[in-house]
Amino acid sequence: MTQNTLPDNPFARIPDLPAFDRMQPEQAEPALRALLDEATAAVARLEQTHLPTWDGLVDPLARACEPLFDAWGILSHLLAVMNSDGWRQAHNALQPAIVTFSLQVSQSPIVYHSLLALRDADRAHPTLTGPRRRILASMIRSAEQAGVGLEGEARTRFNAIQQELAGLFTAFSNTLLDAVKTYTLWVSDPRDAAGWPASLLSAAAEAARQAGKPEATATDGPWRITLDDATAAPFLKHCRNRALREELCRASATKASSGALDNSSRVERILSLRREMAGLLGYATYAELSLSRKMAPSVADVDRFSASLADAAREPARREQAELLAFAREHGFIEAALSPWDVPFWAEREREARFDYSEEELRAYFPFPRVLDGLFELAERLFGVRIEAADGAASVWHPDVRFFRVRDADGTPLANFYLDPYCRPATKRGGAWMDAFHTRDRRPDGSLQLPLAVLVCNQTPPGEGRPPLMRFDEVNTLFHEFGHALQHMLTGVEDAGASGINNIEWDAVEVASQFMENWCHDRATLRGLSRHIETDAQLPDDLFLKLEAARNYRAASNLLRQLFFGVTDMDLHARYPQPKWPDANAVKCDAASRLLPQPLLPEDRLLCGFAHLFAGGYAAGYYGYKWSEVLSADAFAAFEEAGLDQEAAVRATGRRYRATILALGGGTPPEDVFEAFRGRAPSVDALLRHAGLKPPRSC
Ligand code: ZN
Repeated sequence: MTQNTLPDNPFARIPDLPAFDRMQPEQAEPALRALLDEATAAVARLEQTHLPTWDGLVDPLARACEPLFDAWGILSHLLAVMNSDGWRQAHNALQPAIVTFSLQVSQSPIVYHSLLALRDADRAHPTLTGPRRRILASMIRSAEQAGVGLEGEARTRFNAIQQELAGLFTAFSNTLLDAVKTYTLWVSDPRDAAGWPASLLSAAAEAARQAGKPEATATDGPWRITLDDATAAPFLKHCRNRALREELCRASATKASSGALDNSSRVERILSLRREMAGLLGYATYAELSLSRKMAPSVADVDRFSASLADAAREPARREQAELLAFAREHGFIEAALSPWDVPFWAEREREARFDYSEEELRAYFPFPRVLDGLFELAERLFGVRIEAADGAASVWHPDVRFFRVRDADGTPLANFYLDPYCRPATKRGGAWMDAFHTRDRRPDGSLQLPLAVLVCNQTPPGEGRPPLMRFDEVNTLFHEFGHALQHMLTGVEDAGASGINNIEWDAVEVASQFMENWCHDRATLRGLSRHIETDAQLPDDLFLKLEAARNYRAASNLLRQLFFGVTDMDLHARYPQPKWPDANAVKCDAASRLLPQPLLPEDRLLCGFAHLFAGGYAAGYYGYKWSEVLSADAFAAFEEAGLDQEAAVRATGRRYRATILALGGGTPPEDVFEAFRGRAPSVDALLRHAGLKPPRSC
């Protein structure tokens, strides 16, 4: 057995808490090769002798694959958060074998026919629970979409496509990371740093020190701006030197699109392979294949949904743009039109003028430790769970990573999670995400595996003796990822295939995450999160009211930007190629001209950095953010209707939310889960109301 042949290898069998402190890249390959051999042998044994039942096939099949997929998940995680040549080599060396193994399992005709037999038997004499029936249906569909029905050349071609796609996704992601890592905008003249908030000065000096300028200080520079959100976003809002903003903006718009770090041919290749794959499986487009696993019924439904929201936002967005130009003119802007590097800068000035507070002023109320405590208090209040810091009880991959335990009200352990909060542009993928290392799972011996989750954010690191203060958007992001984690950790399902976020339709997976973001706008919650870094005061009411007044500032423009991403995605996967679009970039330009109030730069190559579509799971699914938000806004409206200041009602509604949306997860169809919570089907009204928009006539 693996434990004996590789006794000290931390990848050999991932325990409840992985030994991150001992993991080295060179250990991954021998351990995973051994696990691969074991899993292959176990699946082959099962193929030879099994009963077509849940306990005879479905459960043992999942258990045969689990050690391998657990270890692969950990390796993929380390590649994302501690990227290095060593982890890249280990990942690249193993990926083809992992893809081959996954295809072998999915394409096994023996397994497939037994799954069909089990489904037919259950139809004739129902014995399976609802969640198990859904898992079985997913497995059958996965086998079909993994090419179980293909033979001969078609099968060979399909498998080659899978291998090539897996390699392309990894290469896309690594190239993007390298493009972010290699770009630097140096600012050495203190006049160019005038007006920068203290947090930007200190983050940019810290970035400079990391890049080999030990003399860099927040007050005197030099300052280093990277393409990472922690410095780029505040720089574009606050740097008064227009030429420097232009330089960064152009670099950001063209990242990973030229020279040795160019993703453009990968974009075309991925799209073409997806089309070919969908065709082999009998789907007209990749979008149809993608939607067959989602809540939205059809491409036409998604198109109608996006169009109705765009109709509600187009006119208000035009107004927002005209007002911004007028404001900039009044304050000395002399150009004919706003360029992309003017919009964030002047929007921030207009927001400050109209709502009379600065981001920096707000930030002083949100020290990271206090925000975390406030977030955990909210989870306790709404869902009756306790969250305890347990740093040191588990090993971690980086000294900044925190570890926490989650318990039920009566003390029963429910789950554990890690939090990796700060950005590390050289080694960590951008953005924020939640991932699962373990899932709630009742084992055949009756024991229960608890969920183990990880939240990864890229917030501004603490600098120069300053405590880590959070921007308000970083607070929102933390709440978002914590919402995903809650759904994973508070699941009531005990079959791993549908427990936590497993088996949730991907366009419904953002409900639990976006639901939590709403609480960042609840007065009591926000007060609980806040503690001024110098005065210890909670967020005062007048600042809260200003923040709320500013909530929908440029809401229509922001909505259109999200719709633009979703429409570009759907055009690429449902309608490209067409003669009117010479390449994928032209698809994006076309969508931009229909949706964005502000034209993109001619050289913009957004798709080369669009990891959601080309290195993540959102292809023909980006619309899912807005689709989910209809449900999440409507779910929050249940709390508003109960009365946000009615403590007993809030708690009761929170418990009902936990018992439905968080607990039922992937075991029940999302529309049924929603109805179980809300007592009716979802309505788009709450989403539009929260964004300050009126429903269009067609809604
Ligand atoms: Zn999310």
